[in-house]
Amino acid sequence: MNVNVEEKLFQNRYKVDHGRPHITIKDAAVCANDCKLQSCTYVCPASCYKAEGNRTVTLITDGCLECGSCRVVCTEHFNVAWEYPRGGHGILFKFG
Ligand code: SF4
Ligand code: SF4
Repeated sequence: MNVNVEEKLFQNRYKVDHGRPHITIKDAAVCANDCKLQSCTYVCPASCYKAEGNRTVTLITDGCLECGSCRVVCTEHFNVAWEYPRGGHGILFKFG
């Protein structure tokens, strides 16, 4: 049976740590004013970052896969504060 990526991702479970996002944008003004590419908005596999029409970038970490890509692509401005979720929270991968 063929299973596509979306179906595989759907099998994972995610526990939200309400009020304690494990990734934050340090300075929203930097995203809006200084970051031309806003790469985080298109590399995130879970679509956590969203480019709003007015150049602001919003981040909702629910569903984050902890891949680290957003931190890697933000090397021009180092504007992403990134840490793993607290124990028991975040993504629970289902293998197989
Ligand atoms: S890559 Fe970094 S500076 Fe640019 S929009 Fe994303 S978080 Fe902001
Ligand atoms: S760590 Fe990966 S999945 Fe999580 S917000 Fe960053 S790019 Fe998206």
